[in-house]
Amino acid sequence: MPESSSTTAQILDGKAISLAIQNEIKQHVSEFVNKHGTKPCLAAVLVGEDPASQVYVRNKERACERVGMDSVLHRLPATTSTDQLLDLVGRLNDDPNTSGILVQLPVPKQIDGQRVLDAIDWKKDVDAFHPYNVGLLSQGRPRFLPCTPYGVIQILYRSQIKTAGKKVCVIGRSDIVGKPLASMLIQKDSPVGPDWANATVTLCHSRTPDLADVTRDADILVAAIGQPDFVTAEMIKPGATVIDVGINRVGDRLTGDVDFESSRQVAGAITPVPGGVGPLTVTMLLNNTLIAGELQREVN
Ligand code: NAD
Repeated sequence: MPESSSTTAQILDGKAISLAIQNEIKQHVSEFVNKHGTKPCLAAVLVGEDPASQVYVRNKERACERVGMDSVLHRLPATTSTDQLLDLVGRLNDDPNTSGILVQLPVPKQIDGQRVLDAIDWKKDVDAFHPYNVGLLSQGRPRFLPCTPYGVIQILYRSQIKTAGKKVCVIGRSDIVGKPLASMLIQKDSPVGPDWANATVTLCHSRTPDLADVTRDADILVAAIGQPDFVTAEMIKPGATVIDVGINRVGDRLTGDVDFESSRQVAGAITPVPGGVGPLTVTMLLNNTLIAGELQREVN
């Protein structure tokens, strides 16, 4: 991993931040166990044999173990139908031992993924994809925050880089990253306080003209595009914070959406890939599973 120096950007170490949060979650899990006599449990559903999905699910299981949570992996064949997957989701919704449900995406083409995500009980919706949870977030009263955007906020918070009053540019309008992150940043408050909300947000996408003019105006630039090394030094305001959400495989190497080497000469702070936002996504999933465990006891 590159070292930070006085002439280049501060490297925001997502791995270290993630471990610190996991230690806090571990403590909360042990309090949960003392209080309820049972562990929070994440049910992960993996349909098919996609190698990247298998790695992601394994990482999530290991992370659960590290913080003292239970996890159960449900493997279904690649030929599974929408109805068969809905049947499993229904059983997990009804299962009192399941705190959170995660259906690993992408699901095979024959499955109606939207129907499946909509069928997950909102109280177990640890990815925060259910329309009810998206609506609550948009109204500024979330129960669950989506894992990757919340990870971005945590990196900024734990690095004491405030968003209030700042110009934030988010590139990418996906339902998983760009849109919910913009939605969080424009709110009046956040779980880590109003200094990590209250931003003036510009959400850019594939039809944004003169993109570099917009990105160069940003105090904080977030790239969630899915194109390797897309953001270059010329697109960054000197001293700006650059958060790279991208994970792209190029040959046998992982790279982000930001050209790290050129950008770190201009930015004030920057996340690396790997070791930036990625580790936070899994950690915020653990946080949501803990919240789900409490939420079910609160509502039932
Ligand atoms: P997506 O493909 O759903 O969305 C990409 C977005 O980028 C689109 O909204 C599109 O409008 C925009 N875009 C594409 N080309 C553009 C261009 N030339 N100019 C401006 N905007 C453009 O992607 P996603 O699911 O949001 O993922 C984005 C990246 O983040 C991917 O590399 C993905 O692997 C990564 N990702 C990482 C994590 C993590 O844990 N770190 C989690 C989710 C996604």
